[in-house]
Formats: sequence, structure tokens, C-alpha cells
Amino acid sequence: MRIPRTNCARCDVVLTEENGYRRSDSFTFRSLCRICFALERRRRHDAKEEKRREALGLVTPHCAICGSTETVTRSGRVRRPSIDHCHRTGVIRGVLCSGCNSGLGLFSDDPARLRAAAEYLERYAAPAEA
Ligand SMILES: [Zn+2]
Ligand SMILES: [Zn+2]
Repeated sequence: MRIPRTNCARCDVVLTEENGYRRSDSFTFRSLCRICFALERRRRHDAKEEKRREALGLVTPHCAICGSTETVTRSGRVRRPSIDHCHRTGVIRGVLCSGCNSGLGLFSDDPARLRAAAEYLERYAAPAEA
């Protein structure tokens, strides 16, 4: 008979009903506590995402439009810049920060409209200080 592990394989905390990770519909403990399980899941996801970006040649942290790095955070970490793709063709275009990515979306990825918006802003731009 296989004796179930009673300590977290990572941090060695004694697993209980409350701190042990288990599938919602089963009572069999995994050998990790919930915290270690969450960290492990994140670590695996990160490694997978890093590989995917490497394969695409998109490891840069800089936005292809504004050149800055991402500042928006999620779960306490700075988000990875988005991999932008053309919604019509599915072709991957590059890495964008959240702001630029939403901007393109709000302008329906329409270059003419974006140019018109730029001209509109320039019309009302404050003159450069002498
Ligand atoms: Zn643990
Ligand atoms: Zn940007």
C-alpha cells in the first residue's frame, strides 16, 4: 500500500485539509501545500511562456510602439508585454505595452484613424517653449 505523503514536498509543512492542495472533487492530497502548488504552477507557466516567446523571437521587454517597458502589474508583478497579433490574419506583429495595445484596439487597428488622431492632437498641441 502506498502511504500518502503528509508533508509538503517543497516547504515541508504538514499538510492538512486547509493548507493542502487537492482537486476540488477529490480528497487525495497532492504532495504540495496550496502556496507551493500555486508557486509551482506559476513557475511552470512562466517557463512555458518564456520558451514560446523565445521561439517567436519576442523576448524584448520594450514596446514596439513607445519603446517603454510594461508598468501594469497583475498579482503583484509587472505584466509581460502583450504579444500583439493582427485580429484579421492572426499574424504576430510584435510586443506591445498594455497602453499601446489597448490603444490599437480602441482605434480598431485602423492606421488611417490613428494618423487622423495624431493630427488632431498636433493641431491642439501646446507650442514648444522658447
Ligand atoms: Zn509547501
Ligand atoms: Zn507602448
